[in-house]
Amino acid sequence: MISQNFEYSSPATLKDALALLSDGSAKVLAGGMSLIPLMKLRLAAPEHVVDMRRVPGLDTIRQAPDGIHIGAMATHYQIESSPVLRAHCPLLAETASHIGDVQVRNMGTIGGSVAHCDPAADYPAALFALEAQVRLTSAKGGRALSFGDFLVDTFTTALEPGEIVTGIIVPAESSGTGVSYQKLHQPASGFAMVGAAVRIARANAGIGFVRVGITGLASKAYRATKVEQILESTGDIEKAAAAVADGVEANSDLNASAHYRSHMARVYTARALKVALARAV
Ligand SMILES: Cc1cc2nc3c(=O)[nH]c(=O)nc-3n(C[C@H](O)[C@H](O)[C@H](O)COP(=O)(O)OP(=O)(O)OC[C@H]3O[C@@H](n4cnc5c(N)ncnc54)[C@H](O)[C@@H]3O)c2cc1C
Repeated sequence: MISQNFEYSSPATLKDALALLSDGSAKVLAGGMSLIPLMKLRLAAPEHVVDMRRVPGLDTIRQAPDGIHIGAMATHYQIESSPVLRAHCPLLAETASHIGDVQVRNMGTIGGSVAHCDPAADYPAALFALEAQVRLTSAKGGRALSFGDFLVDTFTTALEPGEIVTGIIVPAESSGTGVSYQKLHQPASGFAMVGAAVRIARANAGIGFVRVGITGLASKAYRATKVEQILESTGDIEKAAAAVADGVEANSDLNASAHYRSHMARVYTARALKVALARAV
């Protein structure tokens, strides 16, 4: 199908882009991997589209004292292949490598993915495990939110009209932290039926801290704090993974029943915990 007619702008500066977006009526175009199909299916019909691809400086990945700053327009491929992320935040690079196919990874952006907020997207699991921050900017100024506060529900974020995602901040891992992202993917699209992202650091002979993010299971991704607490206190991977779906209303759809998804969440969480622990030295 062909989309409805729309006005197209391609600003060359962030200031111009924010001015065009300021009344909240225009839509941002990033990689177009989600927006364009929605427009062609007429599930979205924006009157004005503001293409961010000519705006300079929004796709950089750099290390700073407070963490690694990733521009919203960094593509999944840039994140997967970034030497800075591979060395200092391997969980995000590994997660990006699981997204869709080569074309999707070359075009799609991290800002577009988090703004779109698909409950089966991969990044949210990693961003919960990493306790990431999201930087938001509008013509009136900027603010930063924890990823947990940014993500509200299925396809719903804390973005206000006129506000865009300009970056994500993730921590640089201390040496010795083991990470893993394990995913049961939908075979046609690659989206996560269940995805588990884990960071584990050892302390003395046991486990220091554990962070677990889950995507695909419920209406929104979440941090599985119960799994973290059980593993930190008992060191028992199977017991910890068994708690991943406790109190969670699992999605049921054509791809997987709630029962199957919950079971797979336990299986993939256990796998991610085992791999991360083996990588923690
Ligand atoms: C075949 C296929 C397979 C896929 N498989 C996967 C998968 O396995 N895992 C996965 O996680 N994803 C998958 N995706 C989705 C993909 O990751 C998209 O890239 C992503 O969801 C949207 O990013 P984008 O840059 O293309 O955004 P766009 O499509 O350009 O925009 C998406 C939405 O976000 C808004 N937006 C974009 N950027 C910003 C910003 N900076 N600030 C505010 N709002 C913004 C847009 O207005 C729009 O509403 C798949 C997509 C396709 C087409």
